[in-house]
Amino acid sequence: MSTKINRPAIHAPRGSELHTLSWQTEAPMRLLMNNLDPDVAERPEELVVYGGIGRAARNWESYDRLVEVLKVLKEDETLLVQSGRPAGVFPTHRGAPRVIIANANLVPNWSTWEHFNALDRKGLMMYGQMTAGSWLYIGSQGIVQGTYETFSEIGRRHFDGSLKGRLILSGGLGGMGGAQPLAATMAGASIIVVECQPSRIAFRQRTGYLDRMAASIDEAMVMVEDARRRGEAVSIGLLGNAAEIFPQMLARGIVPDVVTDQTSAHDPINGYLPAGWSVDEWRTRAERDPAGTAEAAKKAMALQVEAILGFKAKGAIALDYGNNIRAMAKEAGAVDAFSYPGFVEAYVRPLFCRGKGPFRWVALSGDPEDIYRTDAKVRELIAGDAALDNWLDKARRHVHFQGLPSRICWLGLGQRDRVALAFNEMVAKGELKAPVVIGRDHMDSGSVASPMRETEGMLDGSDAVSDWPIMNAMLNAGNGATWVSFHHGGGVGMGFSQHSGIAMLADGTAEAAEKLARVFWCDPATGVMRHADAGYEDAVACAAENGLWLPMNGG
Ligand code: NAD
Repeated sequence: MSTKINRPAIHAPRGSELHTLSWQTEAPMRLLMNNLDPDVAERPEELVVYGGIGRAARNWESYDRLVEVLKVLKEDETLLVQSGRPAGVFPTHRGAPRVIIANANLVPNWSTWEHFNALDRKGLMMYGQMTAGSWLYIGSQGIVQGTYETFSEIGRRHFDGSLKGRLILSGGLGGMGGAQPLAATMAGASIIVVECQPSRIAFRQRTGYLDRMAASIDEAMVMVEDARRRGEAVSIGLLGNAAEIFPQMLARGIVPDVVTDQTSAHDPINGYLPAGWSVDEWRTRAERDPAGTAEAAKKAMALQVEAILGFKAKGAIALDYGNNIRAMAKEAGAVDAFSYPGFVEAYVRPLFCRGKGPFRWVALSGDPEDIYRTDAKVRELIAGDAALDNWLDKARRHVHFQGLPSRICWLGLGQRDRVALAFNEMVAKGELKAPVVIGRDHMDSGSVASPMRETEGMLDGSDAVSDWPIMNAMLNAGNGATWVSFHHGGGVGMGFSQHSGIAMLADGTAEAAEKLARVFWCDPATGVMRHADAGYEDAVACAAENGLWLPMNGG
């Protein structure tokens, strides 16, 4: 449902002065506002943060009410947010979460885009994606490291150790997809990303994630060749429709080394431009004829996926980057869509087995120096990890902060709690100018069931079992996370995923230290448990090394 109105731009307050009764509520309020900062959100005027229609609040009235409530919420009260709307405030206690969020959850038999969209149009629901509706989106950096790790792993596995001098082809330069160009050049590869909206290309150039724009395949290929001759990597946003450009490149015999896609294919009405349509036509037809738009988009996705399969047949490494394009394309006749793997199954699962995933933090002071100090602390605590050092070096040089300064690092069980406690101590000692918020993406080791992405091809076939993220959310709430969320449909769309999020305040107090220690030990430990239960030996070993009590797995 469109909620577009003209309002002054939203920026979270910076500094150490409170605008609420305590840091417990200042933190979620700042992060909600930060999600809607024009440097962070894709379409803030519509409350859309990223990922198609992933919103931070259901409508502007809800947003205003959320802020009003957070300003007066006490430390022994908990605000319940139902699909982006403040539904109730209840007396709890200081150890309980300050905010509990549920977004887009539907009883399984009704879990379709059609049903969701009907409720959305009536103003009864909101799509929260993952960190949009749970107020911990940190701009494209959030996905840069994961994408960089995935590209680097592809280099290690398939290209003699490195992607240097190689070419990646992809689609989509939105909130998440916008990380691809920077991640590729950081990994040494050139990349062409086909994007149909010039404004998206300009946004990535403005925020330092993308080098060049090209208006044609020829222009893009000249840029790639020039860079190759100079021994450099270049990232190019190629203006066009991926459903048209991919097949044209294939027909011309251009074969990238790696091919993937990150358009918002998970949402066939609002997320993928059908072939032959202009963007304006798409917007009006999506409102007027959602079913016809979805059908046209799925047909176009089939064209793109067939081209990806063609590149694969000619030797390219093809991978699905978590947007469900294979399922959509298959519905439209691309019968072999699933003959290339999802990125988690192929490259990320070994990390998940050790509870390793996208840990992140945000400096509420607004001062980049706070992040640089925490970077140094992470290096000190996790010494001898060359990949981590490399990432922190590159992140400092290449990643521009969007909104409140933040950092992401993939850390595992036994690392996250140590780092979180150390940050809390830095706040206590005055080494940081204000408290920090620490959390993670929902796309993590123990927090998601998503059979087309995070839990695709689990060893024991338990891909669709969502008891795991539900237990994860309840445990985190019990352990006192500052805010906890449970969503449906993030990443891959309605009916395809259920997942939970957490965010924690580190304000330097002893009370925060207790909660941080509990949450950041147990949260990744549930991921190790989930993978050990599915039979992954690495996870069983990790559980044993860390003394996890898993009654059915040797514990
Ligand atoms: P977004 O909606 O912000 O951006 C999508 C972009 O694709 C837009 O800029 C749009 O103009 C462009 N686009 C749409 N159709 C196109 C076409 N036919 N040709 C060329 N460009 C087209 O979405 P996002 O936040 O960038 O997320 C992209 C996808 O990745 C989503 O499906 C999301 O769920 C998924 N995702 C993946 C991960 C991951 O870890 N890999 C994480 C989160 C989200």
